[in-house]
Parts: sequence; structure tokens; C-alpha cells
Amino acid sequence: MISFSSIQHRSTQNSTTITTAVASSSASTTNRTFLLPHHHTHKFYFNSPPFFQTVDLPRRLCIRAIDAAQPYDYEAQLVNRFSQSGKLKIAIIGFGNFGQFLAKAFIRQGHIVFAHSRSDYSSIAQSLGATFFFDTHDLCEEHPDVILLCTSIISTESVLKSLPIQRLRRNTLFVDVLSVKEFPKNIFLQYLPSHFDILCTHPMFGPESGKNGWQNLAFVFDKVRIGNEESRLTRAETFLDIFKNEGCRMVEMTCAEHDKYAAGSQFITHTMGRILEKLQLDSTQINTKGYETLLNLVENTASDSFDLYYGLFMYNKNAMEQLERLDLAFEALKKELFGHLHEVLRKQLFGKSEESPRLVLAKLPSKLAKNGTPLLPVSKSETETVVNNNN
Ligand code: NAP
Repeated sequence: MISFSSIQHRSTQNSTTITTAVASSSASTTNRTFLLPHHHTHKFYFNSPPFFQTVDLPRRLCIRAIDAAQPYDYEAQLVNRFSQSGKLKIAIIGFGNFGQFLAKAFIRQGHIVFAHSRSDYSSIAQSLGATFFFDTHDLCEEHPDVILLCTSIISTESVLKSLPIQRLRRNTLFVDVLSVKEFPKNIFLQYLPSHFDILCTHPMFGPESGKNGWQNLAFVFDKVRIGNEESRLTRAETFLDIFKNEGCRMVEMTCAEHDKYAAGSQFITHTMGRILEKLQLDSTQINTKGYETLLNLVENTASDSFDLYYGLFMYNKNAMEQLERLDLAFEALKKELFGHLHEVLRKQLFGKSEESPRLVLAKLPSKLAKNGTPLLPVSKSETETVVNNNN
């Protein structure tokens, strides 16, 4: 029979000492001492039977004695109660620009957010309502439902390898938000034991483009490996629901498909933004709508780290081809321009009787072949030969 036996309350200048003697069985007695600062309210709450009583002390004092005697499955009960609430404990690994941006939405939707990063973001985490952990061991011992990798693409592998995953619950869900997808999928499959679930995702927006809400913004996901148990399926859906609830356009596709599309869209976008940034464009009084679009593009892409851009190039096998296509397209465009100029000059010099070099240059396709079929331009020597023959 468990019974409450005594409480002693003693105040000193800086703290209040409370000693409770709690008989956890007729045979054993546990003494607990709590040192509490003065500003705490002096009221005891014992919320596990039979301590269903409140003891009013001279000053109001609130104690949460988490290590007090509890039923043996107390933690399991708490976990169950929490999971039934439909809320997740999400640990964000990499609490930089994008990690903080996502944390705000998670917290707004009532999820518990833990954070860890190479740098100290403890005060930012606190201001957002998240708990910052300097040590990943401590974080993993909190048994988050989801580990969300949000580090730079290039550091992801070393960060994943450094996590003490043996401290996690066996079927923890691993999610990533990297801007490339085949790479994290492969390293998850390589380093995580088969009892962990894997969900690869890419929100197709960032702190700049998503600052006014996520309505209709695309969210790509690939359920790479989710266990069949109801609770695991539900957990993955609950995570995806966060983005659905914000109004995202949910797009399920394989990581390989994502990388093919993203190289032709996202990588090109970032590359153009960075090229334009190098031109140091000025805003003028006579900006056209088109020019404003370019300035916005620079703003949208330049605020991302170079690591991110480099990751798009380095860890997407389709990116190199896109860079070559850009090169070819620029060359083809210059040739078209210079061809016109050349024609005008020749007409002035030789009159109309000469064969127009434009005819020669017209052999260059005005547009590149569609993605996946790289342009084979008329070779330089071929073009030059014809032009020389005309001379
Ligand atoms: P980022 O430069 O790609 O990544 C910065 C994060 O990586 C920070 O948390 C940083 O930690 C961590 N990091 C960098 N080098 C590290 C290292 N050697 N060891 C450990 N951690 C390291 O910028 P981001 O915008 O925050 O992006 C984070 C992830 O989200 C990237 O994978 C990116 O592809 C993806 N993503 C970004 C956007 C976006 O618009 N920004 C959109 C979708 C997806 P510290 O800050 O502690 O140094």
C-alpha cells in the first residue's frame, strides 16, 4: 500500500528546501529533497494516485517531481497519450536558415520541436518555442518520433554518420528536406538499419519564396521505406499533413524523377539568378515588369547559401548536362546575333550579289533540343569552312 507520509518545508534566504518522505511500499521509504528558487509558487501537486491531493504551503510553490515514484509503464503511458493527440516530436538536425523556417510551422501546428546544429542556436530555438540540444545523445534520448535532416547537402553524410542512432526508438522515422533527392535516399538506405522508416521530401520553396505562406507551393515526397504497422503509416501521414495543412500542393514522385525535373528547373533558376547577381543589376525608375522579375530572381536565389547551390550541382547527376546546355544556348544565341551583324556588314561591303552568310548560320538550330537530347551544334570548323568559302 503506497501512502504519503510527511512534508517538511524550510526557507532560507535564496531558496526553499522541501523534504518529502514518501513510502513507496510498507517496506521502503524514499526521501527526496528539492531546492527551489523563491519565485516559485508554493503549491504541491501530486497527480498520480493515491497522491491526489494539493498541499497548500505558506507561499505558493509548484513542484513537478518527475522522478517521483510512478507506475512502471508511466513513460509508455505518456508516449501513448501523446501519440493519440496526433502531435509529433520532431528533431531538426541542422537548425540554420531553412531548419528555423520549418520549425515555425511545426510549432504553430502544435508539434514539439527539438533542434540540434553545429552552431549554438539555443536562444533562437527558445524564442521560437523549440528545445535546443548541444549534444545529439541527449536529443536522441528524448525519443523523437521524427529525425528531420536539414543540414547542407554537402555535410549530410557526415552528420548522419555522427548521430547516435542506437539511442533512438527502433522504428524512428527519418525525413530529409534536401534539395536533391537520390543522394539522401541512398545514404539513408546505406546507413540506417532496416527498422527505421525513411521519407524523402523536398519543399519546393524557401524562407524567401514561402514567407507569405505555403498555399499552392509544391511539396515533393517519396515514401522510400515505411513499415506496415498502422502507427508507422499514421506517423508518416501526420508528418505530411503538416505541409498539407499549410496548403502545399503535395506531389508524390520518385527521388530519381525529382532530380531529373529539378535539374532542368531549380538548378537552371539558381544558375541564372547567380549569373545575374554577378552583373550587379540596378533598379531604375524605368524598370519593366520583366526586369523586375529578374531582380526578384536575384533576391530569391542570392539569399541561399553557396553550399546549397553547390549541392544542387554536385549531388544531382543531371546538373552538369544542364550547365552544358546553358553554355551551348548562350553560344548559339551569340552566333545568331553576330550572324545578323555580319550579314549587314557584308551587304554594305559587297552588295546583294553575295550569298548571305546568314544562310550558313541558319543551319544552327535556333532552339536547343528538349531536355534529355543534348544539342549537337554545327561544328565550328563546319561553320567556318562555309563562311570562308563565301569570302
Ligand atoms: P545550407 O547552407 O544548405 O545548410 C545550412 C545548414 O547546414 C545549417 O544548419 C548548418 O549548421 C548546417 N551545416 C553546414 N555545414 C555543416 C557541417 N560541416 N557540419 C554540420 N552541419 C553543417 O542552407 P539552408 O538554407 O539552411 O538549407 C538546409 C537544407 O534544406 C539543405 O539541404 C537545402 O538543400 C534544403 N532546402 C533549403 C531550401 C531553402 O530555400 N533554403 C529549400 C528547400 C530545401 P550551422 O548553421 O549550425 O552551421
